[in-house]
Amino acid sequence: NDTHNNQIKFIEHTATQTHAITRRYEIMAKLRTAIGGGELQIALQPKLNLQTQKTIGFEALARWKLTNGRFISPDEFIEIAETSGLICELGSVILDKVLTVIKCLQRNGVNLPVAYNVSSYELMEPSYFEKVANKIKQENIPPSLLEIEVTETQEVCNYTLIKASLEKFMALGIKVSIDDFGTGYSSLAHITELPANTIKIDKFFVIDLQNNINNQFIIEMVITLAKRFNLQVIAEGIENEFEYNWLKNKGCTVGQGYYFAKPLFIEDLIVWLKQHINENN
Ligand code: C2E
Ligand code: MG
Ligand code: MG
Ligand code: MG
Repeated sequence: NDTHNNQIKFIEHTATQTHAITRRYEIMAKLRTAIGGGELQIALQPKLNLQTQKTIGFEALARWKLTNGRFISPDEFIEIAETSGLICELGSVILDKVLTVIKCLQRNGVNLPVAYNVSSYELMEPSYFEKVANKIKQENIPPSLLEIEVTETQEVCNYTLIKASLEKFMALGIKVSIDDFGTGYSSLAHITELPANTIKIDKFFVIDLQNNINNQFIIEMVITLAKRFNLQVIAEGIENEFEYNWLKNKGCTVGQGYYFAKPLFIEDLIVWLKQHINENN
């Protein structure tokens, strides 16, 4: 009987695995066409100075709408893009959209930086920095209006290459954030090793902050560390007033989250900005 149950478990397990693999292949195949076919978009989430509640910049986040109208989460398709060799192409499409948004904001009188997410795979590409530098030069965009956020994706990352690349970005005046600090492969060592201006506290630590004393300790430690290393701290995933006040009082200078604004497509962002500026005046 036990053997029989184990056999059933094995078959169920295999079925789940097969399903997951099939889904990966489907996404991979669709992603290839989506990148070339204009199915990718970016949404922009405001970053606010927590003291003044003024908007100080934006984060661009990839959005992929399938032909059936549903969105797939970037957490799912970015990882697939990274492991299937599509990430550089995807990143290049996203960067073009970011530059278009920066120019659109400028036309609307908004001269604030837009940060976009760069995969460490892209940074390890030897010509990556030159590619970005050439693009912004061509488009006549000042480096101070572009920022990058870097997430560690693999233990196989080549730190020498990543460091060299980040140093070039910083030297040109493109600010660098270490994203998802404290989770995944983003280790404590990065705070001393990687050239950066900012560390971003992952939303994992912010969500349920009110009830999670351990996460409160961790965030306080990260803020202290950041100050010690002269880095700015951004908290993401601020969803309510408690989280906002708590982070502000602990000395976190910048934040983003649904409490202020969800990631918005550019047309909606322009509307939001007009309302937000009125509210603050
Ligand atoms: P991330 O860079 O850490 O981005 C923050 C994530 O938190 C975003 O998820 C954002 O929508 C979400 N978020 C912001 N405020 C709140 C909040 O108050 N509550 C909650 N629950 N979530 C909030 P999203 O857009 O699903 O992106 C997930 C991850 O995918 C990003 O995490 C980033 O690592 C990656 N990603 C997104 N776009 C790109 C891209 O263009 N290139 C690369 N390489 N990675 C990207
Ligand atoms: Mg990010
Ligand atoms: Mg994060
Ligand atoms: Mg991330």
